[in-house]
This record gives sequence, C-alpha cells and structure tokens, in this order.
Amino acid sequence: MIPSHLQFASLPHPLPPPPPRLLNLPSFRPRATLLSRVFRVPTGRCHRQRRPWGGGTVRALDAAQAFDYESRASEELEQRARLKIAIVGFGNFGQFLARTFAAQGHAILAYSRSDHSAVAGSLGAAFFRDPHDLCEQHPDVVLLCTSILSAEAVLRSLPFQRLRRSTLFVDVLSVKEFPKNLLLHILPPDFDILCTHPMFGPESGKHGWAGLPFVYDKVRIGDSEDRVDRCRRFLDIFAREGCRMVEMSCAEHDENAAEIQFLTHTVGRILAKLDLKSTPINTKGYETLLKLVENTCSDSFDLYNGLFMYNKNSTELLERLELAFDSLKKELFGRLHDILRKQLFESPNGSRFPVLCGDAFGRLVYEDNNLVVGKCQWIRE
Ligand code: NAP
Repeated sequence: MIPSHLQFASLPHPLPPPPPRLLNLPSFRPRATLLSRVFRVPTGRCHRQRRPWGGGTVRALDAAQAFDYESRASEELEQRARLKIAIVGFGNFGQFLARTFAAQGHAILAYSRSDHSAVAGSLGAAFFRDPHDLCEQHPDVVLLCTSILSAEAVLRSLPFQRLRRSTLFVDVLSVKEFPKNLLLHILPPDFDILCTHPMFGPESGKHGWAGLPFVYDKVRIGDSEDRVDRCRRFLDIFAREGCRMVEMSCAEHDENAAEIQFLTHTVGRILAKLDLKSTPINTKGYETLLKLVENTCSDSFDLYNGLFMYNKNSTELLERLELAFDSLKKELFGRLHDILRKQLFESPNGSRFPVLCGDAFGRLVYEDNNLVVGKCQWIRE
C-alpha cells in the first residue's frame, strides 16, 4: 500500500517479463546490452518473413539457443546493475543528474523541501515529501544533492534507522572536506560513504558528459563484494557517459577547486556587476566573458556562497585576487605617472602639459597610495 501522503508520480520501470523459451519463438529484438558491450557478444537478429500467400508470420532466429541464453544472462546482468537511488535535494542539479540516471534505467526516488512532483513524474520517478516514507523504500544509494549551506540540517533530518544498515551515502557537493567530515560524523558506522564532485552542471553538461571531470573519494566502503560492487556500479553511471574519472582526496580537491571553481565563479560574478552588453563588434574574448557571466550566474547564489564559506582555501584566493588587481592598477598608473612627469618637467614651453589639481607644486596626487588620475587636467599655456 502506498501511503496517501506520499505523492507517487509513477512506479519505477518494471522489468519486462523474461522472454519465453524456444517453444514459442520470441519476437523481441535485443538491444546492445551490457553483456554484449562487456564481452563483445554480437547481437543476433530476429528475421520475420511474410508468407507470399498472406498467411501467418514465419520467424527465425540466428543461433536461437545461444542467443536466448545470452539475452537472458544479459537481462539479468543489467537488472543487477540497476540501482535504486534516492536523490535528497531535487533542485536544479538533482534533476539534471536524475535525467541521466533515468535514461540508464536506474530507479529514482526524489525527496525535496519544495514540491517537485511534476518533474519527478516526467522522469518516471517517485516523489516523496516525507523522509520516513523515502527511507522506508530502502534505496541502495542515498544521494545528497542539497545546497552546501543546508546539507547538515537536511542530513540530520533523515531517519537513518529506517534505511538498510549498509546503505551507500554519496554526496555531490561542490566542496569536499566539509561533507566528508559531516558524513563521517553523522552517519551510523555501518553506512558506506562516497564523496563525489561532478565538475559540470546543467549548463556545461547540457550536450553530454563526455570528457567532463568527475572527482571522487571512496571515504568508507566496506570490504564485502556487494558493497564494493555497489560503489563501482554507481561510479559506472558517470564512466558510461564518458566522464573523465579522477580519484582524488577531498582535501586535494578543495585546494584545486578554490582556484578552478571559486575563482571562475568570482570573476563571472564581478563581470555580472558590470552589466556587460552584447555589441555588434563583439570579439571572441568578449564573447567568452559574456558566456562566463551566463554560466556562473545561472547557478544559485547559495552555491557560490557555499564555495566561499565551506572551502578554507577560498578566503586566501579572494585576498590574492584583490592583491593581483591592486598590483595591476599600480603598474598601469605607475606608467602613466612616468609619462606625466616627463611632460611636466621636460616639455618645451608652449607645448601641452598637465596641471594636476590639488597640488600647488604640480606633483601627482595620491590617495591611499593610488594615483588619482581623475584629478588631472590638460591645459595649453
Ligand atoms: P543549490 O542552490 O546549491 O541547491 C539547491 C537544492 O538545495 C534544492 O534541492 C533545494 O531544495 C535544497 N535546499 C536549499 N536550501 C534548503 C533548505 N534550507 N532546506 C532544505 N533544502 C534546501 O543549487 P544546485 O545547483 O541544485 O546544487 C545542488 C548541489 O549540487 C550543491 O551542493 C552544489 O554544490 C552541487 N553541485 C552543483 C552543480 C551545478 O552546476 N549546479 C555542479 C556540481 C555540484 P528545494 O528545491 O526543494 O527548495
């Protein structure tokens, strides 16, 4: 029985019934199955022939016996590879991942603060509003996909006692040391933990995931074969899409991510404050800047804020960025200073030279060590 308060969009895909044995020749057409991909088994073809006098269909199967066996084995293999994945936090990124999970045939359970039952329904996923109902479904994997800022509160609100004891918890937060410590601290010791960061999003991954980096750290995976296999099957979702799989410690990820990710988002958001407009003479470089603004600002501010608050390397990076900007400004104004001085003291009478406001002696005006160019004016004697 499905509880009335549970919004059940539609059941996860039921498996098709096994094909009948040779008595009635099966008319199914095999797909390029996992087995055939792994073992390079050629997929057989089922030929249908119409009798010339319009009678019933004659069916023949190439190597029917072997094919039937392989097809069944392949179905079983695919069935075993299927995971029941509970996505906790079914927002922008959770839905984006769910589309690929569903396309690969995994069963999806979605849970979120807001009502996303319509989107869940469109993906053939069950949507839950109560964490108890979600956990009672005994997912193989619980995927933490909430904002970084709300991760702890959401995690603490889950009734772990309703899950199977060996559940695999995976997070996709864009910072890694924080969720690693959180999961190790909060989860019961029997649960497995895999920290991941798909380093792409709905914008950069909209045309597929091939070649895009996927970082993971197997923080705590039990030794038993089924646990190791479950973790492998989860990672395989991304490997099958062609992601560049990078195993890396959470600490190393955060060191790198401050430069790669926080810097990118910061520059994108600074540029957004300039309200840049497209013009008829855009250069390639300018187009790149416009694209950067679009890419970074389509993510929530919570995400950006999380990159800053929960990665200790981000503060240092922000300071380095400020110093770099100051040093560049100084370099530019220093050169301007030299030119002005030259003109001031070396120009022949009658030529143009600058008069600098605010200084009776014609010296350049500085405020807080910065040359105040705005106070210069040019006059002719
Ligand atoms: P986000 O703003 O970081 O997170 C939105 C999700 O957090 C939604 O599911 C939202 O639930 C939930 N949430 C926010 N505040 C909450 C609260 N107080 N209580 C309960 N739930 C709350 O945007 P996102 O892009 O979807 O990212 C989700 C996670 O994926 C983040 O940890 C992010 O770092 C990571 N990630 C994102 C990307 C990306 O490109 N977007 C890439 C890699 C990793 P409701 O929708 O129900 O309100």
